[in-house]
Amino acid sequence: MASRPRRPRFEIAGVKISSGYRKTLEIPLMKLPTGSSLSLPITVLNGIEDGPVVFLSAAIHGDELNGVEIVHQLLGEISAKALRGTIIAVPVVNVLGFVNESRYLPDGRDLNRHFPGSPRGSLASRIANLFMTTVANHCELGIDFHTGTGHRGNIPQIRGNMDDAEVRALTEVFAPPVALHARLRDGSLRGAASDDTRKVLLFEGGQAHRFQPDMINAGVDGTLRVLAHKGMIENAPKPDHEIFWSRSAKWVRARRSGVLRLEAKLGDLVAKGDVIGRIGDTSPGKSLRVLSPVNGRIIGIIRNPIINQGGPIANIAEEQPNGASK
Ligand SMILES: [Zn+2]
Repeated sequence: MASRPRRPRFEIAGVKISSGYRKTLEIPLMKLPTGSSLSLPITVLNGIEDGPVVFLSAAIHGDELNGVEIVHQLLGEISAKALRGTIIAVPVVNVLGFVNESRYLPDGRDLNRHFPGSPRGSLASRIANLFMTTVANHCELGIDFHTGTGHRGNIPQIRGNMDDAEVRALTEVFAPPVALHARLRDGSLRGAASDDTRKVLLFEGGQAHRFQPDMINAGVDGTLRVLAHKGMIENAPKPDHEIFWSRSAKWVRARRSGVLRLEAKLGDLVAKGDVIGRIGDTSPGKSLRVLSPVNGRIIGIIRNPIINQGGPIANIAEEQPNGASK
């Protein structure tokens, strides 16, 4: 360790943080209509030696809480005194959505459709711009934590552009139960912050409004593996499972409205034609079988039995070894 240069003070938002220290900063975000100031809390761990700068972000969708706890637990496990490089942790990006227990901002906008944003745009655009200029632009790698939307629950998974060799390699190191190729989406943090020199992994696990230990553990362990791979920390837990690679996942949707009685569960391997559930009524009578259209694995599932025609039931991923397109 002695041969590595000692890391200089790290400067962010005009604040200098000494090597080997952690600091939580309140980045001014906006004035509330009451006149009070609202800030974005970020915690910086500035390591003792030179190394990569990495951001960890959660709750861009304010009701997606597993990532908030993943970031919290990681900050509890990693010491700045034993770190190479710098971690910038933003446990709650969408502060207003978080306090309102909502995915969205108060004006109904989805923050993750407004990156990279601008300093004079909508509120979403301004928050996105603040995150990009204050946090992401310092970094060569980011991990953004999400959960399923609404009543949907997801198996822990990394979504990324698996045609990018570095993203695929980092996903292999993270070793999520499921790795899903997903093209970059316009307006998303992952889309805006990914380029030749900076990579962003998107983790999804569990459902909104919950702390789910299995999902949180998968996010914490995978992130520790990536940080160890980057040489930032010494040790990380070894994965105890294979990765299920896929390039195609599709939601099976309800052909009628009614009450959904699931027969399959999250993580199940299904064959084409297998019964996933039945849609019936509240009173006894006929029901409509919901069949899997492909051979695959259920990587997302609806938790709310009340379903409308066209509503999502199960997200089924087909297996493609190593995420390869061939
Ligand atoms: Zn999300």
